[in-house]
Amino acid sequence: METRLNKLTSRTQDGFVHHGNNGLENGLITSAVTPSSLVTVNTNFDVIIIGAGFTGLMAARELSRRNRKVLIIEARDRIGGRTFTSEFDNQKYEMGGTWVHWSQPHVWTEITRYGLSIVETQGVTADRLSLLLDNGSRLKITSMTNLLPQLCESMNNYSNIDGVQGRTVMPLPHEPFGANEVIQTYDKMSMQDRLDQISTIFNNNKDMYEIMDAYLSMNSQCKLSESGFIDHLRWWALGDYETCRLFDKTSRYKITEGISTLAKAMLNDCHNVQLLLSTPIISINRTNDNNVTICTQNGQLFTGRTTIITIPLNTLHNIEFFPPLKLEKQRVINEQQCRGGSKFAVKLEEPIGNWCGYAPYPNPITMAFTDDKEGTIIIGFGMEDLLDIRDFDAVKLALNKLLPDIKIKYIIGHDWRSDPYTGGTWGWYRPGQITSNLLTLQEHEPPLFFASSDTANGWRGFIDGALESGLTVVRHVEQYLNKESTINI
Ligand SMILES: Cc1cc2nc3c(=O)[nH]c(=O)nc-3n(C[C@H](O)[C@H](O)[C@H](O)COP(=O)(O)OP(=O)(O)OC[C@H]3O[C@@H](n4cnc5c(N)ncnc54)[C@H](O)[C@@H]3O)c2cc1C
Repeated sequence: METRLNKLTSRTQDGFVHHGNNGLENGLITSAVTPSSLVTVNTNFDVIIIGAGFTGLMAARELSRRNRKVLIIEARDRIGGRTFTSEFDNQKYEMGGTWVHWSQPHVWTEITRYGLSIVETQGVTADRLSLLLDNGSRLKITSMTNLLPQLCESMNNYSNIDGVQGRTVMPLPHEPFGANEVIQTYDKMSMQDRLDQISTIFNNNKDMYEIMDAYLSMNSQCKLSESGFIDHLRWWALGDYETCRLFDKTSRYKITEGISTLAKAMLNDCHNVQLLLSTPIISINRTNDNNVTICTQNGQLFTGRTTIITIPLNTLHNIEFFPPLKLEKQRVINEQQCRGGSKFAVKLEEPIGNWCGYAPYPNPITMAFTDDKEGTIIIGFGMEDLLDIRDFDAVKLALNKLLPDIKIKYIIGHDWRSDPYTGGTWGWYRPGQITSNLLTLQEHEPPLFFASSDTANGWRGFIDGALESGLTVVRHVEQYLNKESTINI
């Protein structure tokens, strides 16, 4: 089943394919697996970057091209972090971060730089739509054309907290505190609070309430009562305050060559960066001469003038800092953010055409849609831990509720929630966390610098946010290395 493409690829320990009765295979073939460098332990690096996701790759490329001596230490056996493209059964499957858009400024620049192209995911504009309603007991079949005007109207009502579609609260989505005092008020609100506020508009259309529930919790992958409303408004503003444009920007176009091709292109464009894979770090020590010593799980020590820590917010609490970080910083790290849910792909025995399905909480699948033209591949998403994607029968049962007649050939995916180096999927803050946590998380404690998609300003929680954060931290590290010790973000 493995193709000739695999000659350029190797197997990572991440991910699985489940063939039903024919068993489960752990590990997937991907071009994101790449050789480690032979690192001389006594080298004094300018910058040691922890993590080879897009934040780390951006920082490594930019710093190394400024002739900084850079080491990347990565826990996994591959690059790309919360993204990797698996090549299986003559298909490219994206296991994590997938969809990109020309209005995502940082990612689009990289697509242009490396001459990559985009391909459309079909199901976002599906003509056949399944809605699982009334606590999963009623299946309604309709079309996207029928649903869209109602969904757009409901989304407009939901987001219209100020009579101008949220523009006064989120006027500049790349500046989270652009409307300072107003942000304080709305940051306390959960997505559920806002749904409750407008609930009377659904009095004559209960189905629409359930569809809104499914759509909104698909975005946060978390119970709406635990998902911050401000992050919804940020997405909404980034989507130009309009539902169809938000769909297009978040789930319609993916990189034809695969997201791992972009990660590899960035790595290959670094100048003399050393990369150490399969090397989890466990502690970060600031030395008396204001250098940094990084200690790995297998006891190796690496020293640098600075370090950039790109470890995801939900697993950063596993790292020990000596001396400890500022109390407030450690507090917000310990709080974490929403953990997200599941993403998986299934290959069907028979094509089903262009299809999409929604099922609100507590259905194990919140949203699913076909990815390819014929409709033989479905991408599914589930909220929190409601679906164990490694359980073939559980996925089959949940999907059959939306599509009773389909037969699954295999399931392919990666369980990001139980991944010790991720602890969740994409970033979404809980109520109150933007105003109380974001600035603290972004604050550096030189020579320690922090960067991550989870703490970006604009497309936080997206690949674009990782690139933004990677680029921003490069400016701060350069200022520091050039002997400016006061960092103003
Ligand atoms: C299922 C899923 C779907 C998504 N869909 C989209 C999408 O369609 N579009 C989009 O733009 N974004 C999407 N995202 C989000 C996007 O992928 C992430 O926001 C982004 O890739 C994060 O980049 P990062 O470099 O900040 O973090 P990461 O990619 O998580 O990189 C951090 C790196 O640190 C490493 N690390 C962790 N702990 C240690 C340690 N102790 N020692 C050494 N290394 C360590 C990790 O292994 C990892 O490689 C999705 C994410 C997921 C999981």
